[in-house]
Amino acid sequence: MNIHEYQGKEVLRQYGVNVPRGKVAFTVEEAVSVAKELGSSVTVVKAQIHAGGRGKAGGVKIAKSVDDVAEFAKELLGKVLVTHQTGPEGKEVKRLLIEEGCDIKKEYYIGVVVDRGTGRVVMMGSEEGGMDIEEVAAHSPEKIIKVIVDPAVGLQMFQARQLAYDIKIPGELVNKAVKFMLALYKAFEEKDCSIAEINPLVVTGSGDVMALDAKLNFDSNALFRHKDIVELRDLDEEDAKEIQASKFDLSYIALDGNIGCMVNGAGLAMATMDIIKYFGGSPANFLDVGGGATKEKVTEAFKIILSDPNVKGIFVNIFGGIMKCDIIAEGVVAAARDLGLDRPLVVRLEGTNVALGKEILNGSGLNIVAADSMSDGAKKIVSLVN
Ligand code: ADP
Ligand code: MG
Repeated sequence: MNIHEYQGKEVLRQYGVNVPRGKVAFTVEEAVSVAKELGSSVTVVKAQIHAGGRGKAGGVKIAKSVDDVAEFAKELLGKVLVTHQTGPEGKEVKRLLIEEGCDIKKEYYIGVVVDRGTGRVVMMGSEEGGMDIEEVAAHSPEKIIKVIVDPAVGLQMFQARQLAYDIKIPGELVNKAVKFMLALYKAFEEKDCSIAEINPLVVTGSGDVMALDAKLNFDSNALFRHKDIVELRDLDEEDAKEIQASKFDLSYIALDGNIGCMVNGAGLAMATMDIIKYFGGSPANFLDVGGGATKEKVTEAFKIILSDPNVKGIFVNIFGGIMKCDIIAEGVVAAARDLGLDRPLVVRLEGTNVALGKEILNGSGLNIVAADSMSDGAKKIVSLVN
């Protein structure tokens, strides 16, 4: 789960990570009142969307007066911001962070991630922080320094000190940087983050070390023990189809292809996406209806798939084990009738009562193409869609 920058900074503040003073605003009036409250000579107006790259896209504005704040707030609220992370459709700005302007001396990068290679939490740092860290990673990876954390003891002070030296934090500020890194690691660990990225971490003119940006992602499997974090969820930032699917306990992830998939079992769902790709198609989603799919669940899954305008055809690939194929066939036929199926539908059934299931599909009078195997089904849907 992802949260907004202002929320991430609030979480980090609780752990003693140094962040600028600031508050969220939903309207121009609120933005003005926060700016007055802050009373700083320079105020920064920052678009809050679940995506980075806002600076380059015009989503971070430096205001020299309260009038400027009002001006920028008016400009940004309701604007669709397109950054290199949003995709071409962009994201509408509905919240702003109004924050104290910071006298930046130099920008650094600090990121904490779970590294699959080492199976450990890794803290990464770079002296080349700011808006082009992706470039640094691609062209001069040696400028990204990594520290591997032993989970038994956590991030050690000597490791943080070494990292601070390696990314060339000025000597007199190393202690502050160490304190910053230890606090950041503690937040990451205690809140079950999957990513905590501070870009930029800055050294200021007055000799402070602080986080000017904060991206925190959380492991959704651990959210049950973080009620405070769950409350920060912003459904406006999530895919409407995914929210709908979660209400019906369907595992659904939207993708950018054009073949809608309905499958039971996560492994079969993965294999189905692979085989569609193998035959030259592109899946529009991952969808696992689960082992105990009912007719209602199948209908809901169909609705979600059909609500995606990119879907040009549907491939149902079901293995009837616990579920019987005839029950599934009935669900598919009922859903297709209810929803007025207007796109090609290929169904492959295998397992218990498969003959009966096929009979139901064939006798439905609907335009359903039956497939004999997984590859047969994948080939058929790919050719129908193309
Ligand atoms: P993004 O990563 O989405 O582009 P950031 O929060 O990193 O957004 O902001 C982009 C840039 O804007 C930063 O690298 C920094 O130079 C500047 N900036 C952000 N917040 C402040 C602030 N409070 N004071 C001064 N400059 C800021
Ligand atoms: Mg940033």
